[in-house]
Amino acid sequence: MIQLYQPLNFLGMIYREIKQSLIDIEAMFAILARAPEIKDGSAVQPLALTGGTVRFEDVRFSYDPDREILKGVSFEVPAGRTVAIVGPSGAGKSTISRLLFRFYDVNGGRILVDGQDLRDVTQESLRAAIGMVPQDTVLFNDTLAYNIRYGRAGASDEEVARAAELAQIDGFVRRTPKGYQTEVGERGLKLSGGEKQRVAIARTILKNPPILILDEATSALDSHTEREIQDALERVSLGRTTLVIAHRLSTVVGADEIIVLEQGRIAERGTHGELMARHGLYHSMWERQREAERARETLKAAGEAE
Ligand code: ATP
Repeated sequence: MIQLYQPLNFLGMIYREIKQSLIDIEAMFAILARAPEIKDGSAVQPLALTGGTVRFEDVRFSYDPDREILKGVSFEVPAGRTVAIVGPSGAGKSTISRLLFRFYDVNGGRILVDGQDLRDVTQESLRAAIGMVPQDTVLFNDTLAYNIRYGRAGASDEEVARAAELAQIDGFVRRTPKGYQTEVGERGLKLSGGEKQRVAIARTILKNPPILILDEATSALDSHTEREIQDALERVSLGRTTLVIAHRLSTVVGADEIIVLEQGRIAERGTHGELMARHGLYHSMWERQREAERARETLKAAGEAE
């Protein structure tokens, strides 16, 4: 019996390893598939970072030639500052974050990091300088520890735990029987959207990049989770050049500048206070969101009273 068991056990192990690598490869292809056409030019240099200033100069971009998505967008995120992009759905907000990470090249204008055009630097050095917390994080079918350590392969257990704490995922880790050895399932399906996003934040804390792109999840999180994520994001963005792609206005109040994008153009820009005083698009978006929140609260209260 034992003679039969051992080879079967071995086969089982190989099967699990192959399945694991297939899922890792799948996750990798999902990332790579987004930008198959971008190649380093022959004269590229590694990015020389001085502070991490990001500058968009009259950027034009279209996914398909017959439909321009960004129609001349210019703004600067000074080193260490936070700029938030808001605007109606489909305005081109996430496209801006994809261009900064160079998933695509611009069709007009240029994007600079510390004065260097993205097309003149190696993609490897650019992506090493940028941490991205995307809307939907793809996790590897492995443990929580593996998924957090992905931010920096050599990180110690203590560093992983510290990053988890800053990202406010440590409470969740403690509540699971296997702690950091908890398997997250295929693509992280065993975790909620908020938990996955906090794993992505912990990863970014370990990576420690000078530039951050935070692409907020569109899906509504409960207000407690949202608050926790917001706190974690505020901590991670401290002292880093941060571009926030915001779907909820409550998260942008403290930004150094808010850019209101409408159909690929900047319609308004300023601080929260300045934009509210203008009584324009930002002000009406804010009022609409407040009304929706109030309606949700009334419904919730009515549900609880029943
Ligand atoms: P939301 O708030 O709904 O996330 P957004 O402002 O972030 O919207 P983008 O994701 O930047 O909008 O998309 C801008 C426009 O580009 C949309 O009309 C979208 O349909 C289109 N678009 C996005 N990705 C692609 C793509 N890969 N190919 C073609 N069109 C695309």
